[in-house]
Amino acid sequence: MTKLAGLLSLMLLATSNLWAQLNVYYVDVGQGDATYIDLPNGHNVLIDGGNSGAPIYKFLKDKGVTTIDHVLLTHPHSDHYRGLKKVFAEFDVKNFYDTKAENRDAIGDNNLRELADAEPGCKTHFPEPGDQLNWDSRVTVKVLNSCYEPVITHNNDETNACSLIIRFFYNGTGLLFMGDADSSVENAMTRIFKSGLQSYALKVGHHGSRYSSTEKFLARVQPKVAVISVGANNNYGHPHREAIDRLLAVGAQIFMTTSGTQTLFIPAPQKGVEPVIEGPRPYTPASDLPPAVRDIVYVPPVEAPVSVNSPAGGPPASPALDQLKEAAAQK
Ligand SMILES: [Zn+2]
Repeated sequence: MTKLAGLLSLMLLATSNLWAQLNVYYVDVGQGDATYIDLPNGHNVLIDGGNSGAPIYKFLKDKGVTTIDHVLLTHPHSDHYRGLKKVFAEFDVKNFYDTKAENRDAIGDNNLRELADAEPGCKTHFPEPGDQLNWDSRVTVKVLNSCYEPVITHNNDETNACSLIIRFFYNGTGLLFMGDADSSVENAMTRIFKSGLQSYALKVGHHGSRYSSTEKFLARVQPKVAVISVGANNNYGHPHREAIDRLLAVGAQIFMTTSGTQTLFIPAPQKGVEPVIEGPRPYTPASDLPPAVRDIVYVPPVEAPVSVNSPAGGPPASPALDQLKEAAAQK
């Protein structure tokens, strides 16, 4: 290639990069969580893998994925980590982001961590609240919650409170991913990060549990779009009517993975053009807009989860919350 041709192709590459969009796929994995993200620079991210390997494997295969740059486990519950075992077995993973939460009731999470350790060329990271993850120079990725110091527990609420929470910001658009964090974490985050929580799209905490998505928190986030990753007729009665009502009350449109994988595209910034959000849409390219679940049928919970959270605004009730410090907002 001549010098000029080389220069031209470099310029073309730079231009095409400038126009790249960020794509988010809230993957339908039944009762569980898995979100796949294409960054504008071509790198990719997977947050959790669902409760079994098959759905996430099929999704990634269909997309032609062979390598994943960044895999996150929000917290060691099976509906988040099990599918990741298949991911480590079948795909090349370059970076693994984990918490030091140890779920004493499960051994599968340790199996996953062993797989990550054994993955050739894969680095494990334990990010702290306030950390910025340098995944793409044009996308701000900030960690808002995590257990970066060991928490060994068999208490479900404590494990949920360890959830690795991150927020993306691209082209004026915030995307918040809550894992299974509940109101105790939301209260602490609201106090610490304030307007830094504002996000166009909220991946709703804990599959739409009534113990997440509190009014105060939602008033800070101001989501236009709320995505709930949930399986039909699940044993927990997720999503709970109370959470749905609070989301609708702040004006969020609700989308659920029970209608299929939900997709959100954030276009590249263009000079003089306001950002336009395309989607979310159903994954099927043939169909138009997804059904917003305004008339969701409320299924009473089979077994109401027990909450041991401190009252709103109260002192941190768990080792996980002690790790969320004011300094995180300044980082
Ligand atoms: Zn979960």
